[in-house]
Amino acid sequence: MFEIILVFILGLVLGSFANVCIYRMQRNLSIVKPNSHCTNCNNFIKWYDNIPILSYILLKGKCRYCKSKISLRYPLIEFICGLLFLSMYFLFGFSYILIPFCLFAFCLLVITVIDFDSQIIPDEISYFLIVLGLLVSPLNHILSDTFLPPALTTQYNIGSFNIMLGDPVLKRIISSVLGLIAGGGSLWLIGCIGEKIFGEEAMGGGDLKIMAGVGAFIGWDKVLFSIFLASLLGSIVGGCMILFKKIGRRDKIPFGPYLAISSFVMLFLPSPATIINYIFLFEENLLIKYVFTNLQNIR
Ligand SMILES: [Zn+2]
Repeated sequence: MFEIILVFILGLVLGSFANVCIYRMQRNLSIVKPNSHCTNCNNFIKWYDNIPILSYILLKGKCRYCKSKISLRYPLIEFICGLLFLSMYFLFGFSYILIPFCLFAFCLLVITVIDFDSQIIPDEISYFLIVLGLLVSPLNHILSDTFLPPALTTQYNIGSFNIMLGDPVLKRIISSVLGLIAGGGSLWLIGCIGEKIFGEEAMGGGDLKIMAGVGAFIGWDKVLFSIFLASLLGSIVGGCMILFKKIGRRDKIPFGPYLAISSFVMLFLPSPATIINYIFLFEENLLIKYVFTNLQNIR
């Protein structure tokens, strides 16, 4: 119980920082200096007025000094970040890998809101995810799940060196690098084809970089499936919005939020390529066995 509360509170605090990042990154301001201040009267916010959710309730959603309204979005994002951290705790337990995945969820949240607001994805967040994803890949057991062709998992003898590609740690590192290439490369390809057909930029460079980062965390097959899922979600929501005349046919809709949501969902699903591999092996009940062992090994 202590662990759950600790992780949730940490999520709320990081959620508060997410609000700072969301506001300042869109305006190209520093995220560390100066301290938080009211956007209306510029008075600095005291620490006791900056407690996630609680301060919002105590201040009744108004600035202490000028009484201007504070957007409900701030406590809401803090709360969502708390929930995201909790979900990561239930997926990974209280382990080393929990911290990088909490940061992963944090980045996806920040990207979703910034892209929704201003149709940009800050490069800093993508680069951060790429570096972090590669760095923690040896510990990242989500990547153990990825299907790799047999050529990449057998033992090679080069001179006196014994290169054991089937080694679990090495497999995770290879999966991470392949994920990075698949995530960034596939969107780059889609962008190139889109540009040839429509004659204008179809895919933002931000989407490409962020999916390279996501790929480093979740592997090539999950990242490709995330992109597929995001396109599906995006076209359903976009189609509905055009249907109900909320947007025009030529309006651009941000793709980042859909990419972020589907990447997050893919964390909880088994690796698509492994499932396909099992189905095509036609081995009896292997799929069911796979799901079961996966559920047991989820910690
Ligand atoms: Zn104020």
